[in-house]
Amino acid sequence: MSRYWSDIVQQLTPYVPGEQPVLAHPVKLNTNESPCPPSPRVVEAIRSELGDNGESLRRYPDPTARKLRETVAAHHGISADQVFAGNGSDEVLAHVFLALLKHDKPILFPDITYSFYPTYARLYDVAYRAVPVDDAFAIRVDDYFAPNGGLLIANPNAPTGHALPLADIERLVAGNTESVVVVDEAYVDFGAQSAVSLIAKYPNLLVVHTTSKSRSLAGMRVGFAFGNATLIDALNRVKDSFNSYPLDRLAQAAAQAAYEDDAWFRASCAQVIASRERLSAGLRELGFVVVPSAANFVFVSHPAHDAGRLAAQLREKEIIVRHFKLPRIDAYLRISIGTDAECAALLEALRVYVG
Ligand code: PMP
Repeated sequence: MSRYWSDIVQQLTPYVPGEQPVLAHPVKLNTNESPCPPSPRVVEAIRSELGDNGESLRRYPDPTARKLRETVAAHHGISADQVFAGNGSDEVLAHVFLALLKHDKPILFPDITYSFYPTYARLYDVAYRAVPVDDAFAIRVDDYFAPNGGLLIANPNAPTGHALPLADIERLVAGNTESVVVVDEAYVDFGAQSAVSLIAKYPNLLVVHTTSKSRSLAGMRVGFAFGNATLIDALNRVKDSFNSYPLDRLAQAAAQAAYEDDAWFRASCAQVIASRERLSAGLRELGFVVVPSAANFVFVSHPAHDAGRLAAQLREKEIIVRHFKLPRIDAYLRISIGTDAECAALLEALRVYVG
């Protein structure tokens, strides 16, 4: 048996099915989906793409997702050849690992961050070093200037919600010109500064976005990478070698419509941010410590209550939040911002357990 199968694949853990529970009406606050529906224009666009009898589905989609990339490029003030599209940002990141990260030096990412980074590194056999965040969960920029095979920084970070200012991101990019600096901005629209404006200046910067959070399209699986055309070309080469049709017709139409309705997007983000501040206040009233969040979730702990036990108690009420059984964050719960009714149900249930 090859080393790959025996040593690498066997050590991977399949995605925890419990995070997508089969419940009739769960209060689902564990995977940072949007509490807002997508723009009505998205629904119209899917219907129109489908037509009366689904005729369009006979035909392959545009393999280059040209119209979608042009729309998204215009939205960000860049050109279409600086945009790569994939099935969710998870797939975009997989392409990044294959095409852009070096194998002769370890890549660097924070020790508390999106759990897929170490998983992908193992899967693609890329060495990595996880760099400790400080006691307040902040990323220490000064720790990222050692020789490396690439940097992966989620901004805001997950599951902490901590955001770095744009000046710090620029320092990382300017100080690591020999490698690609990947800034994963899955949650950027909820209160952080985007680095897309820097891509014209830095050919080693790649910014990754998703439509799953602020554009309410987690179910459509559409994500992007923005960067210098040479980096985007490298991603396209990898893409073409294993699936030259990355996005289906309905996903292309839906994502394009989402970018065309900027007012809906802005209103959704404002709603999530306002709910986050209300939920944070409600949790503090119950004695929780709430880490300042620039994302669509909060990261909280209670000095007198075990986080794992609280998560289990909530689950009995079909309220699902995320507890990571990991060093340093074992005492924390990550709670996605839900609808007003979902946040109220959460606070009501917690009041019983911690009140
Ligand atoms: N990056 C980060 C930091 C995330 O938290 C997530 C969502 N879990 C993703 C990327 C992937 O999102 P998607 O594949 O839905 O675009």
